[in-house]
Amino acid sequence: MRHRTIPGSSGRVRPLRLLGDPALTGPCEEVTAFDGELTELIEDMYATMYAAEGVGLAANQIGVPLRVFVYDCPDDEDRRHLGHIVNPRLVEADGPVVRGPEGCLSVPGIEAGTPRHDHAVVEGLSVTGEPVTVTGTGFFARCLQHECDHLEGGLYLDHLTGLRRRRALRAAARAPWAAGTVPA
Ligand SMILES: [Zn+2]
Repeated sequence: MRHRTIPGSSGRVRPLRLLGDPALTGPCEEVTAFDGELTELIEDMYATMYAAEGVGLAANQIGVPLRVFVYDCPDDEDRRHLGHIVNPRLVEADGPVVRGPEGCLSVPGIEAGTPRHDHAVVEGLSVTGEPVTVTGTGFFARCLQHECDHLEGGLYLDHLTGLRRRRALRAAARAPWAAGTVPA
């Protein structure tokens, strides 16, 4: 039997940046060096995502302003999608807009019904610089759109309006981790 490396098993769990942290608000930079440092970053991102029981993680969520995200996420048919993508571009986001529960490791403990397209396609590169295309539907399409937003300095909260938005922001401001950093 061939030994298969489990993603993140050699990674280090890094502290998560939370809502209010400036690392989450700016657009990230393109990766230009496909080297050992990038491999280590991706390993650390898997380790951090699994430790926090998330389904996706963008590099700026651990304070690294580079265009990379990792995911281990089911779709609505319970198919598992596991991988990473470097310099992703959301090339398609279409199909019906579905409002479904969405949360974020940078806004722990809070969830809100968020509108997202049911189908998404992301093009980018692997850790070794090979072109990759990732297609998602349902909850995984939601995850792909969510992670691409992070790399532009966005959060799912930006997609909320009215009462839903006010409720989520109020809950975030009152959360034990907020410590006065989140404007109410
Ligand atoms: Zn997130």
